[in-house]
Amino acid sequence: MPQIKNIAILGSTGSIGTQTIDVIRWNSNLFRAFMLTAHSNADLLITQAIEFVPEYAIICDQSKYQQVKEALAHLPIQVLAGHQAIIDTVTHPDIAVVLTAMVGFAGLEPTISAIKAGKNIALANKETLVVAGDIITALAKQHGISILPVDSEHSAIFQCLVGEEYKAIEKLIITASGGPFRGRSLDFLANVTREDALKHPNWVMGAKITIDSASLMNKGLEVIEAKWLFDVEVDQIEVIVHPQSIIHSLVQFRDGSIKAQLGLPDMKLPIQYALTYPERIQTNFKRFSFMDYPNLTFEKPDTDTFRNLSLAYAALRQGGNMPCIINAANEVAVAGFLNRKIGFLTMSSVIEECMQQINFIASPTLADYLNTDKETRIFAQNYIEQLPSKALQF
Ligand code: NDP
Ligand code: MG
Repeated sequence: MPQIKNIAILGSTGSIGTQTIDVIRWNSNLFRAFMLTAHSNADLLITQAIEFVPEYAIICDQSKYQQVKEALAHLPIQVLAGHQAIIDTVTHPDIAVVLTAMVGFAGLEPTISAIKAGKNIALANKETLVVAGDIITALAKQHGISILPVDSEHSAIFQCLVGEEYKAIEKLIITASGGPFRGRSLDFLANVTREDALKHPNWVMGAKITIDSASLMNKGLEVIEAKWLFDVEVDQIEVIVHPQSIIHSLVQFRDGSIKAQLGLPDMKLPIQYALTYPERIQTNFKRFSFMDYPNLTFEKPDTDTFRNLSLAYAALRQGGNMPCIINAANEVAVAGFLNRKIGFLTMSSVIEECMQQINFIASPTLADYLNTDKETRIFAQNYIEQLPSKALQF
């Protein structure tokens, strides 16, 4: 009988979080939900906690603490509130794996805390590696922990690399669906609404990553994520558009051989693999058939129209705190678009402006990253508020 692994799910109420909950529910002989966290969705956190009776249920939003505390009073669950409670509790000695499924920069400090406590990380929160990939990978090495990718492209690459040496990698080829606006012109994009952008053709995901997918910023963040996960140079990472999302990514080796990982688009597979690695377990997930997809197609990404992908490459080439700057600028820009404060194309302008205006630091410390994030958010917010009304559409 295998030992049950205690899992801390940071962001258990989100898209990745709820799919992780499914994987745990179906494999209760292997996993236990030890810690569940939400930002403000108290109702779902309570429902999950009643079903799984974790050691800890943590709600970031302090104003929801009483509601969660009272609803779970009859159960042996410690209910806590606030961001700091997550940072402190991920270090619990009984936790085996911390699955980071919160959105954005908020994932950085809990991930650092977990690594320092020797926890393996199942990483969905790509922004953590984008912001401070150098610090995170150095800490992981120092504490001898593994960072297991949950992002489907990185899980694909990771699966292709099983049994291979990383130094034999010639190129990583990351696939992109192209999102809902693939093939569209700048004129078209100037008028798209938040509702249009939230309709992803192949994946159902949280709002922020869905907008990032529509603008190709998600692919840009994934290029940066891949650099840190697989220790390759920026020129060894290529993006190709593959609208069917069946080939999740590929590795080309120095002898010219290419390995790919395929499957129907379903995040439960990479989530589960990150939790069971190096083993594979039986599932009844729907199987892929080539006969259902006789035409798998590939295109070059259109970086003139979708500028965010070029901006992310430029930030990675520049290094230092530049990826942190684009991440913070993008988080503010996406929130601005979702709140109908700016149009779709203005998101790239916000990012570009921040890249030019925020203080560049070539070798940042963690404190520098925290400051850069704050400074960029304030600048980006002010920039949005001062835009002429033409840009403030939708
Ligand atoms: P969702 O928006 O669906 O869920 C986010 C989760 O994090 C929720 O539990 C939310 O709580 C919580 N959360 C949000 N903001 C904060 C915060 N400031 N502090 C603490 N907790 C917070 O996002 P996704 O699940 O789509 O994405 C999660 C991460 O995984 C992102 O980094 C994304 O890029 C990455 N990812 C997602 C994929 C997907 O298919 N969805 C695929 C690959 C990567 P509440 O519900 O209370 O708001
Ligand atoms: Mg992805």
